[in-house]
Amino acid sequence: MSDLKNQIATRIGDKNVVSDPDLLAPHLVEWRGKYSGATPFAAYPATTDEVAAIVSLCVAAGAKITPQGGNTGLVGAQIPDGEVLISLRRMNQIREIDAANDSLTAEAGVVLSNVQSAAAESNRLFPLSLAAEHSATIGGLISTNAGGVHVLRYGMMRELVLGIEAVLPDGRTFSGLKGLRKDNTGYDLKQLFIGAEGTLGIVTAACLKLYPQPAAREVVMLAAPSADHALALLHRMKAATGAVSAFEVMNRLAVDVTVKNVASVRDPLGGVGAITALIEFEAAHAEGLRDAIESALAAAVEAGEAETALIAENAGQARVFWALRESISAGHKPEGAQVSHDISVPVSATPTFLRRANAAMEKRCPGVRIVAFGHMGDGNFHYTAMQPVGADPAAFPGHDLTQLVYETATALGGSISAEHGIGVARRGDLARFKDRESMALMRAVKHAIDPSNVMNPRVLFE
Ligand SMILES: Cc1cc2nc3c(=O)[nH]c(=O)nc-3n(C[C@H](O)[C@H](O)[C@H](O)COP(=O)(O)OP(=O)(O)OC[C@H]3O[C@@H](n4cnc5c(N)ncnc54)[C@H](O)[C@@H]3O)c2cc1C
Repeated sequence: MSDLKNQIATRIGDKNVVSDPDLLAPHLVEWRGKYSGATPFAAYPATTDEVAAIVSLCVAAGAKITPQGGNTGLVGAQIPDGEVLISLRRMNQIREIDAANDSLTAEAGVVLSNVQSAAAESNRLFPLSLAAEHSATIGGLISTNAGGVHVLRYGMMRELVLGIEAVLPDGRTFSGLKGLRKDNTGYDLKQLFIGAEGTLGIVTAACLKLYPQPAAREVVMLAAPSADHALALLHRMKAATGAVSAFEVMNRLAVDVTVKNVASVRDPLGGVGAITALIEFEAAHAEGLRDAIESALAAAVEAGEAETALIAENAGQARVFWALRESISAGHKPEGAQVSHDISVPVSATPTFLRRANAAMEKRCPGVRIVAFGHMGDGNFHYTAMQPVGADPAAFPGHDLTQLVYETATALGGSISAEHGIGVARRGDLARFKDRESMALMRAVKHAIDPSNVMNPRVLFE
């Protein structure tokens, strides 16, 4: 390893190859402390050619590689366990903004909030938005196919990428950095790298789609008596306004434990509603939007779909609404033993999922408490089962409950991971719950591109 380290240092400069434990430490622990690892050294390339050179040297030395961006991943895939760590943080240039093409080309290490700001400076919107946006990088967001709160309107990262440049596991460079919206010349190879969790190569740059900045934005919080009513509301608001950009929900317990455990947060609806829905609207013109929302809400109350509703009067009130939603993860953490899931089902099946999963949880663990929240408009719930109040945490049947959640989701045609990915956390579950042919095809793709299993060798597959 020390030969390899010296060769890489000769190529990219001594100071850009690090083995000092203090400097490596932040790379080797995941932010929640759930995963930790080890690496002989970290390399910090600044160009695509340097990435390619490092990969070639690693291959020649028989070393494995873990790529890392902002180290915000939630499934342990960015933490090396003996592999050489390649950090993309120095590849942090925005190479081009082509406003007339509604596109922006950024290197893999650019932090998401910097892409959002650069787009805004050109009077454009890059719509991907999530709580980790000040740390997560374009390379990591592509490799995890990140979603966030605006998927309903703009799609996941997969739909926001026009082109990709990536270094392959043998050191060659895939030059797919095009800004085309139409390109029917065979397989769409760039898509292979999106959601691959660093197993097929190292993304070095991407051409991203931009959108017009919406001139009008409204935020509504309302109480619905059930998830069925919330689903009806989603479609009512979509049809009435054509402008829904986010449709998030929180069940009663999600709101209550968050208000209890997070001092800065309050429930604007004062405890009403089995389901709290947070709806964001975006439109090119303010004219007519507020009126359309108000009449749709009045009709929803009349139809019994909503019990009460608030429209944010200004940006400050909108932030208060969002703060509740964004604090839920922190809100349920102090509640003892728990298992969290990130599942998706068809949007139409979201109420059925909640009914079936809640019943299965209660049957296996009487008194279990369920926090369900997230992107209902995309069919995606963050679904956490928490130990009964006062129960022995050691007796909590977390593994069994997880299997029941996954069984319920897959029986409805759903997925065990909507957003966060597989990483090392869910490899076993992936093998159990993804169909055999899909797993065989995934293995075939991995073998075709990375036959020596150089890239992130412990990720996705058991
Ligand atoms: C507070 C918080 C909120 C979040 N909310 C959401 C949400 O609402 N929706 C959602 O979808 N996700 C969410 N996430 C997850 C988020 O999408 C990921 O954390 C993020 O995409 C990872 O980016 P990163 O730069 O930190 O990558 P890392 O964590 O460093 O890496 C993640 C994965 O990508 C690989 N990788 C990193 N860079 C590259 C590269 N250049 N080439 C190849 N592989 C690479 C790594 O090996 C690893 O497999 C959230 C995370 C946090 C911490």
